[in-house]
Amino acid sequence: MSYRGRFAPTPSGPLHLGSLVAALGSYLDAKLHQGEWLLRIEDVDPPRVVAGAADAILHTLERYGFEWDGEVCWQSRRQDAYQAALDRLLEAGRVYGCSCTRKVLLQQAQRGVEGPVYPGTCRGGKITTGCAWRFQVTAQRVEFNDVVLGRVACQLDTECGDFPLRRSDGVYTYQLAVVVDDAEQGVTHVVRGADLLVSTPRQIALYKALGYPLPVYMHLPVLLDEAGQKLSKQTLATPLSDTRPLPALRQAASFLGLEVPAVDSVHDFWAQAIPAWHPTRIRPVRGKKLG
Ligand code: GLU
Repeated sequence: MSYRGRFAPTPSGPLHLGSLVAALGSYLDAKLHQGEWLLRIEDVDPPRVVAGAADAILHTLERYGFEWDGEVCWQSRRQDAYQAALDRLLEAGRVYGCSCTRKVLLQQAQRGVEGPVYPGTCRGGKITTGCAWRFQVTAQRVEFNDVVLGRVACQLDTECGDFPLRRSDGVYTYQLAVVVDDAEQGVTHVVRGADLLVSTPRQIALYKALGYPLPVYMHLPVLLDEAGQKLSKQTLATPLSDTRPLPALRQAASFLGLEVPAVDSVHDFWAQAIPAWHPTRIRPVRGKKLG
């Protein structure tokens, strides 16, 4: 089987050690399998995009010796593909217009794995303008085997509920965009942080509804700060240094169970790290601190 992996950062700020862990894990896994590694900038949601962040991310990746295959994919240029997928789901009767506000949902709905579980208020309705478009889930248990975490299961209807594919402001959601892009780019292996594990069952439901073959999933532990919070651009994690890539590369490798000896160059780092990579060395946890 041919291997195609990817790294898909949101340009909401510069890369930090936590994002480097995801980039490194996906790159090493692709390279060990002699696969391709694609780069996609997930700028689908304009309010989250920070000016200059995408260029800074590309520059940092280059300095760290990442080499991606083909052109960079920009989600902001893929609106037609997302709309075409939405239209297909509409025709199949899997999507409906929804005019519920978030405020009302927070008051009325049960809490699920990520935010309120939509109670189905607009299901079967005829709203078609100025609304969000929601994917109708079935009462199905979604199960999959994660390379690091093993068996993962989710009862979509009670734990997530129907979820939006396009918001009322016209923005296509991460769930729709990531599935359409990964499937159309022929991505076979999705290696990313375990903070996104909560999204995977919804994405699997979309793959199935759109008739796409499922990728292999590997969710890497997320780097936690001293307070046990995910290191993120929102918590203002320290940006990676563009002039001293080696300490951060070795730290991220060690976080994933890979001790790379002190080397003099980025080239030597990759020469040591790629053949040594093995996912069984990764602790099967969703998050951990450094060290
Ligand atoms: N854009 C997401 C992020 O930066 C990653 C999406 C994915 O890997 O599926 O957290």
